[in-house]
Amino acid sequence: MTLVERFLKYVSFDTQSSEDTGVTPSTTKQMVFAQYLKSELEAMGLEEISLDENGYLFATLPANTDGTLPAIGFIAHLDTSPDMTGENVMPRIVKNYDGTDIVLCAEENIVLSVHRFPELLDHKGEDLIVTNGKTLLGADDKAGIAEIVSAVAYLQEHPEIKHGKIRIGFNPDEEIGLGAHKFDVEKFGCEWAYTMDGGEVGELEFENFNAASAKITFHGRNVHPGYAKNKMVNSLRVANRFVSLFSDAETPECTQDYEGFFHLIGMSGDVEQTTVSYIIRDHDRACFERRKQLMSQRVDFMNQEYGEGTVTLELNDQYFNMREKIEPVMHIIDLAFQAMKEVGVEPSVKAIRGGTDGAQLSFKGLPCPNIFAGGLNFHGRFEFVPIQSMEKAMKVIVKIAELVAK
Ligand SMILES: [Zn+2]
Repeated sequence: MTLVERFLKYVSFDTQSSEDTGVTPSTTKQMVFAQYLKSELEAMGLEEISLDENGYLFATLPANTDGTLPAIGFIAHLDTSPDMTGENVMPRIVKNYDGTDIVLCAEENIVLSVHRFPELLDHKGEDLIVTNGKTLLGADDKAGIAEIVSAVAYLQEHPEIKHGKIRIGFNPDEEIGLGAHKFDVEKFGCEWAYTMDGGEVGELEFENFNAASAKITFHGRNVHPGYAKNKMVNSLRVANRFVSLFSDAETPECTQDYEGFFHLIGMSGDVEQTTVSYIIRDHDRACFERRKQLMSQRVDFMNQEYGEGTVTLELNDQYFNMREKIEPVMHIIDLAFQAMKEVGVEPSVKAIRGGTDGAQLSFKGLPCPNIFAGGLNFHGRFEFVPIQSMEKAMKVIVKIAELVAK
């Protein structure tokens, strides 16, 4: 099977994850896909193949050279976003893309337009895989899986390329933030690994946000409005006052690059009680800690104003910037850089404005930067992937394997 054939086969599996089930994998259809992949890896003759009850599939391509080389891993996720259906994906290949709008679905007038998605023009002359406008594509992250499996197959067919032990790992539930939770780092047994996930050709990521969530509860006192003078505390109004303490400038819609933010994600309540939810994000650990402090100080301020106990705060760390775990092992970044250059890809280092499985794995002891998988416009009907980008990602994997043995 070729890389493209693999990809087209993989997206025929609906593997949408779900935030609501509370089990791992969050949907059984991910397990169906994992089982299919397992049989494919078996047919390829890989070793140490294991699929655990949580849907984590590991396999080994043994070293083909003597000497002590580190075992390294390549990881991708099985699931697709809960944001958009992944059922009955009907991919289409637009050959030799001419730089004009692509009609995905004529009867519903769904168009992948150059005006809205100017990044299309970077791929003029390439072959794009697009959707029929009714589902997502699933290049996030089945492109990553197809690239890893194809790279391993390539290495099997080219024994003249010497490499150490290569482990591959496919995990469920990345899109609901749980891809790394039950990932058995010890069993995976690698010195370091790369996730192949997301992004434009050349992307190399080893910085992400530090992240916390804050839930603030405002306790009011409801009294008949006709008799409320000096008695009523309207929790809705107290909450509104609290929210107004946060600057417009420090919101996701006003920030980029390395700028952190407070993001108001929910408000609900009535006179008696109101709950407000925020997420707090910052790349810089000290700034991150300061933001959390600020959140507590503002809660204290409100309590001074309205009486102790009016406002309560639940503050929880969610994940941390992997940079601190990567810095001591920067050679794994240098290696990815060199591999990209040697296959003609210009590396572009970007700080992720979010989290990744790799960040959590890095804190579990497996340093794990992220490398592009080539897809674009994730999590929706406008998702597409250039075939040439997938080929480049596959070549990067092969080259990394080769460079580790040099
Ligand atoms: Zn992804």
